[in-house]
Amino acid sequence: MDWPEFSRWGARISEWARVYHETIRSRPVRSQVASGDILKALPESPPKLGTDMEAIFTDFEEIVMPGITHWQHPRFFAYFPANATPPSMLAEFLTSIIAPQCMLWQTSPAATEMETRMIDWLRQSVGLADDFSGVIQDTASTATLAAVLTMRERALNWQGNEEGLSGKRPLRIYCSCEVHTSVDRAIWIAGIGQENLIRVPTHGSTRAMDPNALDANIAEDIAAGLTPAGIVACIGGTGTGACDNITEVCDIAEKYGLYVHVDAAWAGAAMICSEFRGLWNDVDRANSVVFNPHKWLGVQFDCSAHFVKEPDDLVRTLAINPEYLRTSDRDGVINYSEWSISLGRRFRALKIWFVLRVYGLDYLKTTIRNHVEWSQQLCEMIRAEPNFEIITEPVLSLFTFRFVLQNSSDLDSLNQSFVDRINDQGEIYITQTRVNGDLVIRFQAAQFEATRDDVLYALNVLREMSRSMITSEPN
Ligand SMILES: *Cc1c(COP(=O)(O)O)cnc(C)c1O
Repeated sequence: MDWPEFSRWGARISEWARVYHETIRSRPVRSQVASGDILKALPESPPKLGTDMEAIFTDFEEIVMPGITHWQHPRFFAYFPANATPPSMLAEFLTSIIAPQCMLWQTSPAATEMETRMIDWLRQSVGLADDFSGVIQDTASTATLAAVLTMRERALNWQGNEEGLSGKRPLRIYCSCEVHTSVDRAIWIAGIGQENLIRVPTHGSTRAMDPNALDANIAEDIAAGLTPAGIVACIGGTGTGACDNITEVCDIAEKYGLYVHVDAAWAGAAMICSEFRGLWNDVDRANSVVFNPHKWLGVQFDCSAHFVKEPDDLVRTLAINPEYLRTSDRDGVINYSEWSISLGRRFRALKIWFVLRVYGLDYLKTTIRNHVEWSQQLCEMIRAEPNFEIITEPVLSLFTFRFVLQNSSDLDSLNQSFVDRINDQGEIYITQTRVNGDLVIRFQAAQFEATRDDVLYALNVLREMSRSMITSEPN
């Protein structure tokens, strides 16, 4: 491909992007293909000779697009959002063109220094104290792994990397049962072992860790000769938006000298609105905090903001310094690969810069406030319906509910089939979760181009489906 051809295709793809986004409501939100359809459409062997771009683009539309679930669809109400705003796409386009490897300051000073500045813009935006510095990770899973590794090294007096864990007293990490599975994986990868991840029971409507149980667990572990290493708290848990009480968690952590990592992957973005900051009161007492601008801030995947109080502890845990990576100007510059698990790093700060400058914080705040307000309005409408009951109250824009029929003996399968039928229809996309063992329907609204009508439209879909399932029930 020569550059004139690249330029023609670049223009054509940006026009395609406009049409795709302007007509996206006409597409089913969740892909409707069957398993294996796409694989069958792809030749088993690679081509020997080159193919014309026109033919490739036709195949892209005919083979790939039907197998896409439209995360940018305004009626995407499943999981959490993965918003991609136009300025973030443009920044990613530029990044893909210059394609720098941003592992050291020297390998692209602009990427490093912009990362330092953007992390600080984000810190100020969500109201974290100025003694936090930070780094952009690919995902919250990576940030949490880095935090767990740091807990491990601190608890082992920095000998874990060198000596391994064998023969040492087991380390213990504490969290509630509402945390994301990335915590389990971090424990596995850190070599700490699932049985040393202690699930503290939760209490109250926020489903926060019970502080008395947390304290008792730690005290028992110490008495048994085990080594408590840290606590992972969650703000806005994935299932229902559970929020630990950071004040209580930090009081206990301080008593025992433990590290506290706060996972606010989704909810953290909402903290740009000061009225929501009560959810993470005292967060400034934590050792590290992660949130994903790639979820609810319009900075597309991947982009995770990892704030740390003691960057030296993180670097001490992760830095490797072989000779070929040493640069003569090492001193006094930041090499972010020492703050990350992978050596190679993408230039992720550019899209934050574009998004924050194009929109400004005020617009982003209004967008998030709208999502919260519209979701809560929808929640009230669902509550007023005869065949639905609200199971967990909204945390920001996330709540859960259930479809209930008087004579149904198996509400779990009823609700699963309710969700499946709605997603097969494709007008909206929702998922299920479990609350106290029961299968419930999960709803969140946060797509950047969603309007109030898009969010409230969900009510029509839910109502119609409930009617059709009531009339099709045997009695
Ligand atoms: C989404 C989410 C994660 C995982 O985020 P990744 O960036 O995909 O690793 C972790 N914790 C919580 C609470 C989440 O909502």
